[in-house]
Parts: sequence; C-alpha cells; structure tokens
Amino acid sequence: MENRPKYAASFRKRLRAWYKTHSRKLPWREIHDSYKIWISEVMLQQTTVQAVLPYYREWIKLFPDVKSLSQATLQKVLKAWQGLGYYQRAKNLHRASKIITDKFGGKIPQNYEEMRKLPGFGPYTTAAVLSFAFNKSYPALDANVRRVLMRQLGERYKLNPANDKALFEFFKFYFPPKETSFFNQALMELGALVCRPKNPLCFLCPISQFCQAYEEGKQEVIPRPKNRNYRKIEAVVAIIRKNRKYLIQKRPSKGLLADLWEFPGGKRKEGEKLEEALHREIKEELSSEVKDERFLTRVHHAYTQFQVTLYAYECSLKNETQLNKGRHRWVTLKALRSYPVPSGSAKIVKFLEEREKIR
Ligand code: SF4
Repeated sequence: MENRPKYAASFRKRLRAWYKTHSRKLPWREIHDSYKIWISEVMLQQTTVQAVLPYYREWIKLFPDVKSLSQATLQKVLKAWQGLGYYQRAKNLHRASKIITDKFGGKIPQNYEEMRKLPGFGPYTTAAVLSFAFNKSYPALDANVRRVLMRQLGERYKLNPANDKALFEFFKFYFPPKETSFFNQALMELGALVCRPKNPLCFLCPISQFCQAYEEGKQEVIPRPKNRNYRKIEAVVAIIRKNRKYLIQKRPSKGLLADLWEFPGGKRKEGEKLEEALHREIKEELSSEVKDERFLTRVHHAYTQFQVTLYAYECSLKNETQLNKGRHRWVTLKALRSYPVPSGSAKIVKFLEEREKIR
C-alpha cells in the first residue's frame, strides 16, 4: 500500500505513452462537440468502431446538430439507424434532442442530474459525454474499461454492475480528476485493441506488470464468460407484388423491432409446413388467402437475443379488401429504401433488388 503513489505514477506514465503512440484517429476523438460525442457514444454501445464509422459519418451529414435531429421525422431517424440494432437507442436520441431543443435551447446540459433525466442517458453515457465533451471528472465504465480494470484487479470482482464500486475506486485512485477524460479514452482503447475479450495481447500490454490476471494466467476467465443460449426462430414472409409495388406493413410501436417496416408473415409453429405457416399467417394478418406461392429465398440473421431464418415466398392475395391503410403500404423497391426495416428483411430487399437488375 505504501508503494501505491509510485505504482500509480508508473501505471499512468506507461498507459499515456501507449495511448499517444497506438490510439486510432477517430472522428469523435480530439473534439469537444457534445452532440457528436453523444451520438458516437450511443452508437458504440454493443457495436464495434469499424461497424459504427459509416453510420456515424452518414448520421452527421443528415443530422449535423441537435436542432436538425429534433426536427427530423422518426421514420427518417430510424432509417438512418437501420442495421445498428437496438432501435430504442435511436428513438431515445430523437426524443432527447427534442427536449434539449425545447428546454435547453439546443445545448446539452452540463449538469449530471439534468443530463441523466434525458431519454437514453444512463450512467455510462452521462459519464462519457460529461467527461469527453466537458472534461468533467466522471469515470466512464464501458465493457472495455470494466474488463481491463477487472483483469488488473484479478478475480476478486465479477462482471456485475454491483461491483462497479470497486472499479470506480480503482479508477479514482489511479487517475487524477483533471485527467479523467484522457484515461477514460486510454483504457477504452486498450480494452478494444489489446485487452480483448478473447486472446488478449498481453505481450503488447503497457501495464502487464501490474496485472493480477496476467500474473496468475487468468486473463481468459476474467470476466467469467456468459452462457449464451440463442433462441432460434423460423418465419415465413410473403413477397406480394402488384404493378411493380410490394406490400409492406408496419410493426407495432411497442416491443421487438418496434415501428420498423417488414413484409407480411410470421413465425412457423412446431411441426407446421412452411406453406401452411404462410397461409395461416397471411390469413391472420391480412384476412386473405394467398395463392400461387413460390419459394424465393432463405436468409439468416442473428439479433442480440435470437437468430432468425426467414423463408420468403412470392405469392398473390385472393382479395385485399381488409388491408389497413395506416399499417399497410404498396411501395416500389426504390421507395422501400427510405423505410426502416429489420436487418433480416433488408437481406430480402437486397435479394429483390439483385433480381430486378437481372431481369
Ligand atoms: S496484461 Fe493482459 S489481461 Fe492484463 S490488462 Fe494487459 S492485456 Fe489485459
């Protein structure tokens, strides 16, 4: 314990030198634009930097500031988010931008309590925006930072928010308040590039000499791996075309993939043939029989909590008198590009676009 100040100084010195040499140049770093930092932090939750970069650039072109985001339609916002998953995040960005515009004159508040009340500002996002944009002394514990600190500390702490207190104490002890922002970024980058979840590159790590997990060979089991049991879902999808237009429908505003658009269809029941499922689902959803069905394609997509296989059938409706005008639309493939659709359906849209090119 008596050696702690010396140890802390060496820890910081090594981490600082590593970050200055190895960190990636990213559009949301080295800036103090709170809006851009906020957008990047929300996009980066559950998603890698490489996957986020094109979305971030496009988003900033479409919505360069809080005001432009607050004035956009929800459909446009969801479309820009399409492919990033967890659509509630996009809805929260939109809702928060309206509150920031109306209540704070378009400026993101710099006060922790006020910021925390905004939709989507959990403890991590609030700490990250306050730290990176306003240089306030809030440690931002994301998955990367947690992993690095937990490995440094050894197996005493399991990956559980209840144990964050110990990690906050570690952070606060080793990093002076004025440098919180810098070391938040340095630990995040170390976690992303070196202290990776699997196969950490300890031989490249600037702080390996302080690492309890490294000393004990426990890097691979800290944090304890989660058992992930993906639910597997099979669904049938009706591709119904009329005069070069396709029938799509809007999902409910609550629940999974809320407010996105998709082709009509639904889950196959156990023991049911695909064609039987198609007939049943379309009858339930559109109150119509299908005819002339023909198998088109099959696509897979893994969402966070489940994997889906979609079987797409081209078919026609025997009648369409019951279509709900608010929920159903006939659109061309070109027009469909402006609708937010789940990633699995987007693969079917791509298939249809390819097919039209060939024809
Ligand atoms: S030594 Fe290995 S496990 Fe420890 S912090 Fe560095 S990369 Fe992570």
